Amino acid sequence: MPLLLNFPRVTLVAGKTCTAAAIVDTIGNKLTRVKHWAEVLMSSEALLEEREKWQLEVLELKQQLKMAEQELRITRHAFETQDGMIVTDANNVILRVNRAFTRLTGYSQEEVIGTNPSILKSGRQNAAFYRRMWDTLRKHRFWQGEVWDKRKDGSIYPKLLTITAVADENNEVVNYIGTFSDVSQQKEAKENIYRLAFYDPLTQLPNRRLLMDRLSQALAGSLRNHSYGAVLFIDLDNFKTLNDTKGHDFGDLLLIEVAARLRNCIRQGDTVARFGGDEFLVILEGVSYDEDIATGGALNVAEKVCKAISHTYTLKGYNYHCTASIGISMFHGDDFTVHELLRRADTAMYQAKHTGRNTFCLFNPHMQHILEQRALLEADLRQALARDQFRLYYQMQVDAQQRAYGAEVLLRWQHPERGIVSPAHFIELAEETGLILPIGHYVLISACRQLKQWEQEESTRDLMLSVNVSIMQLSQADFVEQVKAILETTKANPNRLKIELTESLVLDSSSSNADKMAALQQLGIHFAMDDFGTGYSSLIHLKRLPLNQLKIDRSFVGNIDHNLNDAVIVKTIIAMANALDLEVIAEGVETEAQLELLRQYGCFAFQGYLFSQPVCLEEFHQLLLLG
Ligand code: C2E
Ligand code: MG
Ligand code: MG
Repeated sequence: MPLLLNFPRVTLVAGKTCTAAAIVDTIGNKLTRVKHWAEVLMSSEALLEEREKWQLEVLELKQQLKMAEQELRITRHAFETQDGMIVTDANNVILRVNRAFTRLTGYSQEEVIGTNPSILKSGRQNAAFYRRMWDTLRKHRFWQGEVWDKRKDGSIYPKLLTITAVADENNEVVNYIGTFSDVSQQKEAKENIYRLAFYDPLTQLPNRRLLMDRLSQALAGSLRNHSYGAVLFIDLDNFKTLNDTKGHDFGDLLLIEVAARLRNCIRQGDTVARFGGDEFLVILEGVSYDEDIATGGALNVAEKVCKAISHTYTLKGYNYHCTASIGISMFHGDDFTVHELLRRADTAMYQAKHTGRNTFCLFNPHMQHILEQRALLEADLRQALARDQFRLYYQMQVDAQQRAYGAEVLLRWQHPERGIVSPAHFIELAEETGLILPIGHYVLISACRQLKQWEQEESTRDLMLSVNVSIMQLSQADFVEQVKAILETTKANPNRLKIELTESLVLDSSSSNADKMAALQQLGIHFAMDDFGTGYSSLIHLKRLPLNQLKIDRSFVGNIDHNLNDAVIVKTIIAMANALDLEVIAEGVETEAQLELLRQYGCFAFQGYLFSQPVCLEEFHQLLLLG
C-alpha cells in the first residue's frame, strides 16, 4: 500500500506563529484525506490492524488541529495590541503591520506593505545611530531604544522601539519583528517633573537647587581653566511695597518681566536663576584670565542689568518703575566655597542697597564688617520696644507768620551704647523685619496721648500733630480698627491728628488703602503726603487719594535758591496742590532765602531747622513759650 506509507504527517513547531494559518489549512486538508482513506480501509478485513493505527492517528491529528487553531487565535490577538507592530522579511521589506501601527503612524497597511521601515525616519538620528542599531541586531538579534520618527502628517514623535530577529531551523534570519509605542507623553511627564524640580515655575528660570549645582560646576570649571568668573546677586528695590500695595499677581508680572530682561543681559553659557522672592542670581563664567579685565567685565554686566531693570514697566496698563541693587563677587578656582561666594555677593548687594539702591557694588572684606553691625543692630532693635528705648521728638511746623500751628512727631531710639539713633538708621530695618508694626503702633498711641494732654493747656490746645505711618502699617487689614481703638483709649481729638504717608502709597491699585484713608478721614483725621516729589505720583493717582496736604521734600527745598530745576519742581508742586485744593507745606527750610522764595511761590506753611530742630517734649514746650 504505497499510498499509506506516503501518508503525510504534520508536525507543529511551537513558536512559528506566523505560519500558524497555513498549518491549520494543511492539517484540515490532511484530516479530510485521512478520513476518506480510513473509510476505505474500514471495509477491508485484512486491514483491521491498520485501521486501529489510523484511528489513533486521527485522534492525534484532531488534537493537533485544536492546538493550532488556539495558537492562531492567540497570535492574531497578540498581533493586535496597543503597541505598533511591523513584520519585515530578512531584507527589511515590510510584510505586515497591525492596526496600532496605522493609528500611531497614520500609514495604512496598503501604503506600507512592500516598502522599507525607513519611510518612518525623522532624520533626527544620524547614519551612525542606525549603523550601531544594525550591528547590535546582527550580533544579538535584538535591539531596543528610543527613536524619533515621523508620522505621515509630518509630525515627529519619540517612540520606544524593540526589534527582534526571527531565525529559521538553519539559524538564518527570516523576519524582523518591530514593536513600538509612542512615548511622547511619558517623555513630557518626565520633563515636567524635571522642570518642577529644577526650574522656577513663575519665571522658568533655574531655581535655587539648579543654581547651586551650576555654581559648583562654574567653580570647578574656573579651577580647571584658571579663568575668573563672577556672581551677581540682584535684589529688586521696594518689591515688598509693590506686593503689599498692588497685590501678588502684580508682583508676579513684574518678576516675569524682570526675568526676561535679565536673560537678555547675559551671554549664552552664562546662567541667570531665581534665587527666591525678588532675588535673582547671575553666574558669569570664564570672563577673563586677567583679574582686572574680569572685574571690569562683571561691572559692565551689572551696569547693563541695572539699566535694563530700571526701564519703565507696563503692568496691567499701569506704568511702573523698578530698580535693583546688585552685589558682585568674583571667583577664581576654588578659593572659597559656593556658600561663601553667595554670602559675599549678598553682602555686596546689601552695601549697594545702603548706598541708595539702583546701583551695584563689588564685594570687599570691609562690607562684611558693615553687615555684621547691621545684624547686631537688628538684634538690639528687637528688644528696643520692650526695653522702653524709643523717644518721641517734636519738630515745629509754622504758618506764614512763623507761628507754631503744629508739630511732626519724629522717632528716636535711645540706644544704651550708641546713644540717640536717628530713624534714618533703623526705620528701613524695622520695615524689613516687620518690627515697624509694633513700633508704629507705639508711636501712634503715644502721639494720641500727647494730643490729649495738650488739650489741657491753652498754648498747645490747637496744635496739629503729624505722625509718620509706614505703608506697611496702613496695609494691615485692621488698621482702621486699630486707630479707632487708639482714639477710644486715649480720648484724643481726631481732628488734631495728621497721618503722613509716603508716595509708595500711590502704587496702590487695590484701592483698599484709599478706602481705609477715607474711613479715617470720616473720623476727622487728616492726611499728608510726605517727601512729595521724590516718587512717581501723577495727578490721576493723587486725585484718587483722600489727602489734605502735600509736603514738599526737603531735597528740593534745600536747593531752591541755587538750582533752577528744583525751583521749577517746587513751583509745580505748589501749583499742583492748588489745583487739587490741597494744603502745601515745605519741609527742610533752613535759610531765610529759602523761606522767602517759598513764600513768593505761594507756600505758606513751613518746617525746618530755621524754626526748630526736632526736640524732646520739654524743649518743644519751652520753644512754644518763647513764641
Ligand atoms: P520725614 O518724615 O520726612 O521727616 C523729616 C526729616 O527731616 C526728619 O528726619 C527731620 O529731622 C529732618 N529735617 C527736618 N527739618 C530739617 C532741616 O531743616 N534740614 C534737614 N537737613 N533735615 C531736616 P528724621 O527725624 O531723621 O526722620 C527721618 C525719616 O524717618 C522721616 O522723614 C520719616 O520718614 C522717618 N520716621 C521718623 N519717625 C518715624 C515714625 O515714627 N514712623 C515712621 N514710619 N517713620 C518715621
Ligand atoms: Mg514725615
Ligand atoms: Mg519728609
